[in-house]
Amino acid sequence: MPIRRTKRGGERTALAGDYDVIVCGASFAGLAVARELSGAGRVLLLDRYEIGERQTSACAAPTTWLEALRLGESVRQTFDKLVMHTPHSTVRFPLPFTFSTFDYPQLCALLDDQNDAAFETAKVEGRGAVSDGSIEVLTDRGSVAAPLVVDALGWRRILGSNGFQPPDAPLSRGLEVHPHGSSGELEIWIDRSLVPAGYGWSFPARDEVRVGVGSFDPRFHVKEPTVDLADRLRRDAVRYQGNWIPHRLRPATEAGVFFAGDSAGHCLPLTAEGIRTAFYFGIALGRELRQVLDGRATRETALGRYAAFSDSHERKFRWMLRAQRAVPRIPPRILALASRGMATRAFTHWSFGHYLKVAPPGFVTDSGDRRPAPEAALAA
Ligand SMILES: Cc1cc2nc3c(=O)[nH]c(=O)nc-3n(C[C@H](O)[C@H](O)[C@H](O)COP(=O)(O)OP(=O)(O)OC[C@H]3O[C@@H](n4cnc5c(N)ncnc54)[C@H](O)[C@@H]3O)c2cc1C
Repeated sequence: MPIRRTKRGGERTALAGDYDVIVCGASFAGLAVARELSGAGRVLLLDRYEIGERQTSACAAPTTWLEALRLGESVRQTFDKLVMHTPHSTVRFPLPFTFSTFDYPQLCALLDDQNDAAFETAKVEGRGAVSDGSIEVLTDRGSVAAPLVVDALGWRRILGSNGFQPPDAPLSRGLEVHPHGSSGELEIWIDRSLVPAGYGWSFPARDEVRVGVGSFDPRFHVKEPTVDLADRLRRDAVRYQGNWIPHRLRPATEAGVFFAGDSAGHCLPLTAEGIRTAFYFGIALGRELRQVLDGRATRETALGRYAAFSDSHERKFRWMLRAQRAVPRIPPRILALASRGMATRAFTHWSFGHYLKVAPPGFVTDSGDRRPAPEAALAA
């Protein structure tokens, strides 16, 4: 069990006040937004846990993204190959860029060092009244208000209006265990005996291995397959962590509120890679909000431009969702043949190169002032 550092009892004083920006959720997306707002105004970051207290993923991301964000110190292990197992094949894909696993608390601390926002632990419960253009955020410690409010709270999208409940919503589900141990390979399993639609993974992180299963079908329970995969790999099924994972884009703005990361469905279908995209859209949003704080744009302009930026990725997300639906239908022997055929340097460089471009690491530093308008990336 993680050690709970969230303030309790008398330490949980009432929360009130007005800010320029309130960022709800202090994980990948929320911290990326706050980073872009450094020095720009009165920013409040809210999370129900202390920053980095609750790991929300297997924590594997392209190394270039971690380096671009100056998070390299948190890297635990780096991989230049992806090993894919199917029932009839094991194929090693040479990657054109490396993936690294990282330490979640350390990464969050490093990213948090890059903002000067105030931080409070509070459970965000909903959106309150709007007065003079300021939006009230209701929490279990009282209410705070700001004209610019960000929901980076994950798939529940608490500041949005329409209910989005599993298993009917477009959500995948993922569960993993974190046994101590080591391995040199980043591995995935596409195997219907494990999960009918989805995949299993083993992501080593120096002295622990993150072993889990994700199902694209929210009705399929992943506890048993996760234990099964851990057994197959002779790993202990200990230290569980899991969550729902969105696999469809949702509106990036609603009723004056901005959404980034899982709350806007920014996690990529098929691979369920959502850290890089949470950084990417979080940075894009932070840059828009900064323009408002600097007096170079109105909130309405920022709402329109950020929504358009997110929407402009719809086609790529739709294609990945199509692939997510198609891969489980491929007969295992054909999948084995196809994966062998695809394991060439030329193919992986082409396909993974396109995949990286959905949210390229150059977005972090693509301008001298490190905070360009998002359309600069669209034009690239
Ligand atoms: C088992 C599993 C493994 C995964 N592995 C990977 C991986 O290896 N690589 C990858 O790229 N993606 C992975 N993903 C997907 C990835 O975890 C998400 O896409 C990513 O975490 C989204 O970031 P986020 O900042 O939008 O949301 P989150 O990381 O979910 O953060 C939301 C934050 O909001 C806070 N919060 C939530 N509700 C409230 C509330 N009511 N009040 C206050 N605070 C609240 C939470 O405490 C949290 O800090 C995995 C997902 C799962 C489930």
